[in-house]
Amino acid sequence: MAFPRPNHPENFLDPLYDSIHLSSQNTGTHVHLEWRRYARLFRQPLRTKHGVWDQREGLVVRLEDAQGRVGFGEIAPLPWFGSETLDAAIALCASLSAMGEALNSQQLALIPNTLPACQFGLAIAWSALHYPPSQTPLDAAIPPSAVLLPTGETALEHWQPTWESGNHTFKWKIGVESASKELCTFQKLQARLPKFSTIRLDANGGLSVADACRWLEVCATDERVEFLEQPLAPDAFTAMQALSDRFPTPLALDESVANLAQLAACYQQGWRGVFVVKPAIAGSPYRLRALCHQHHLDVVVSSVFETAIARNFLQTSLLPALPQPLRAPGLGTAHWFPDDGFETTDFASLWQRLTPSSKTA
Ligand SMILES: [Mg+2]
Repeated sequence: MAFPRPNHPENFLDPLYDSIHLSSQNTGTHVHLEWRRYARLFRQPLRTKHGVWDQREGLVVRLEDAQGRVGFGEIAPLPWFGSETLDAAIALCASLSAMGEALNSQQLALIPNTLPACQFGLAIAWSALHYPPSQTPLDAAIPPSAVLLPTGETALEHWQPTWESGNHTFKWKIGVESASKELCTFQKLQARLPKFSTIRLDANGGLSVADACRWLEVCATDERVEFLEQPLAPDAFTAMQALSDRFPTPLALDESVANLAQLAACYQQGWRGVFVVKPAIAGSPYRLRALCHQHHLDVVVSSVFETAIARNFLQTSLLPALPQPLRAPGLGTAHWFPDDGFETTDFASLWQRLTPSSKTA
């Protein structure tokens, strides 16, 4: 593994790390932080094991330095998945911006691990300040994203447009209704999906061991199933290891590895299956990249329904910097929102449309 790749030395440097660790004489460059809240209604509420989710809320952050350079980032917490709350993120942004002239890269580099979405969002803003975001991935081959189908029988009617648009990896949530009912629906889905499609099943930790075995017996007969994601709750790690040893279909951890510390812990405990990583809530993207290379982790980079600000960073900066070849990322979520103006690469105009934080904090 050679990194950073010499032909793209600017691609994925860690400016925060550099600032605090490589420039001990340097007290950091002063920056001014502003943040604004956003809220986006889903086209249809998303049903998962965690409940019904109808609105995505988060923060767009804006850093500006003394030279007038601007970088946008995004803080998109998912508290029911283990990240900080939106209120905690707002409290951090308020305290950092209140530092005024004292705010610099060192404070940003010292955001605690209890605020992983803030670590991510401010790291990408800092990165954008120095390296304006690219619109296209660099030289790595990024496979088309997996696309999340609606839960339940609705999936039967929704896969075709996705297939025709060239995305052939489908993700479907299970563990929401009874296993018998879902297995019956899955049988219908199997019959409809084309031969060369790829299927990811995501239980969000909602299966019993017995139901997980029923699913894995079915999965074993269909080579289109790429993996079964988080069949059991995170505290059932040993049971998931046993399932992984017993059945041929790979298992992926998701809820078990919500942040970098959990990712490292599961690796240390012997997990060698797939890791679904949600970088926007995992912590520093630079430490994530280092961990993936250090242990040659088999990862799927996945969305938390972030806006184009975070997703652009994932697609053009993080994915090309991860061990190759890549599994299809799970970033095909834009179609879950109406045309609400957030799917733009003009981050400055997106920012202008949001209400200034002083009115919402
Ligand atoms: Mg999942």
